[in-house]
Amino acid sequence: MDLIEQLTQIVGEKGILLDEADMQGFVVEWRDKFIGKARAVVLPKSTEEVAAVVKACASSKSPLVPQGGNTSLVGGSIPFTKGDEIILSLRRMHTIREVDRLNGTMTVDAGCVLANLQQAAEEVDCIFPLRIGSEGSCQIGGNISTNAGGVQVLHYGNTREQVLGLEVVLPDGQIWDGMTSLRKDNTGYDLKQLFIGAEGTLGIVTGAVVKMYPRPKYQQVALAAIPSVAAAVEFLNLARTMSGDQVTAIEIIPRIAIDMVCRHVPNFADPMPDKYDWQILVELSSSSTEDLSGLMETILEAGFEQEIVIDAVIATSEAQQAHIWNLREEISGAQKPEGGSIKHDISVPVSRFADFIREADIAVRKIVPNFRSVAFGHIGDGNVHYNPMQPLDMDKEEYLGHWEEVSRVVHDIAVSMRGSISAEHGIGRLKSDDLVLYKPAIEIDLMHRIKKALDPDGIMNPGKLLK
Ligand SMILES: Cc1cc2nc3c(=O)[nH]c(=O)nc-3n(C[C@H](O)[C@H](O)[C@H](O)COP(=O)(O)OP(=O)(O)OC[C@H]3O[C@@H](n4cnc5c(N)ncnc54)[C@H](O)[C@@H]3O)c2cc1C
Repeated sequence: MDLIEQLTQIVGEKGILLDEADMQGFVVEWRDKFIGKARAVVLPKSTEEVAAVVKACASSKSPLVPQGGNTSLVGGSIPFTKGDEIILSLRRMHTIREVDRLNGTMTVDAGCVLANLQQAAEEVDCIFPLRIGSEGSCQIGGNISTNAGGVQVLHYGNTREQVLGLEVVLPDGQIWDGMTSLRKDNTGYDLKQLFIGAEGTLGIVTGAVVKMYPRPKYQQVALAAIPSVAAAVEFLNLARTMSGDQVTAIEIIPRIAIDMVCRHVPNFADPMPDKYDWQILVELSSSSTEDLSGLMETILEAGFEQEIVIDAVIATSEAQQAHIWNLREEISGAQKPEGGSIKHDISVPVSRFADFIREADIAVRKIVPNFRSVAFGHIGDGNVHYNPMQPLDMDKEEYLGHWEEVSRVVHDIAVSMRGSISAEHGIGRLKSDDLVLYKPAIEIDLMHRIKKALDPDGIMNPGKLLK
């Protein structure tokens, strides 16, 4: 029996797509940067079916591409163009297996959409704190496999910090049941950590036990204009100190990004009364202090006195809070119609954040003098989405032709500050060459050894992360 017949037997005819038109949504990346070709898309409904699919592929050494919500920004979930890879989509595995309020955990299928987990936690007066722009379509298995970050890392940590247990189908088809819900377990190597952030190269995550936290009863959001990027870092420290660490998010937003959102999001009104080069979105959360608007005002006043805040808007309703957050969340989409953008997902020590943007702007200007600098993101974690955009009068393809040159100088600057070339999106295909350039050889060697030990035939997402 050939592989396609075997797979059809395992998942049934409704669980396999073979027609190119039906596979279209699975082979194109969100930004259209990577377009691949697959031999088939399989959609198993259980861990046992995943294991049987992997066993069948392993016996014929057929390459597999695990896919969650396909919102990856680095091409990790897209096959190459040869057409010999099988996409394994977790889309039909979306059961929340258990919500244990007293243990503060949820046990879930890997194909659960992130927003559905947030909702399930809220139903028991808790939160699942991973908040990212793609939460309506990305899946927890994809979040785990990319160790996703988002806007609340400052307070709650990355996805890695939210995972207590994992269930993984290994490259030979064995099921590893590591679904512990323990917060303490010192019994040797913490194996789940290998699969978190592995981008599907070591196995297929089919289930997870994740943490929930008490739901903050009160939240306050403000948008403050600041005189410089350095002032944002000063303000971050001021706000954390004055609030007793109740800052749950702090994001930096340049004027150019607000203008793009106003231009491209229908009926979007600029929340700032005047135009300033830089602003920060600040969110405070608490379960005990009802008067967070008073606290926000006190912090902002201290910021005015120290001349690190020059203007501010405090949201006075939930609708206004949502409006300010909407501004932040629409930035990625609003860049699309503005032409070519060379994306970077950099992290540096928070104290070097301003130096990084200044030095990167100078270096990129030497390559493309009139480029438009769009730098925004999670300043609280030292993570900036540094996206130099094409000059208005330049051809898009001509501009994107500078991608490698621009990225090289940007990454060089980040690494010179002991920063990272991928803070939260992963490596995928986009950065696999850079990984070898910037990671110490000993780390690359260790990663290859782990890969070889778990996946000797290299069938799990080949060519991604490690080349
Ligand atoms: C508008 C927008 C905003 C975003 N904002 C953020 C942000 O703030 N922070 C952030 O970190 N990311 C962000 N992202 C990137 C992306 O959403 C995350 O990387 C997300 O975690 C990917 O989840 P996914 O289910 O879409 O995974 P996919 O894109 O399907 O896959 C990502 C990688 O994981 C592997 N994979 C997927 N599922 C599994 C599985 N079950 N087992 C093994 N491997 C698997 C794939 O092979 C691939 O290598 C954003 C993306 C968009 C489009």
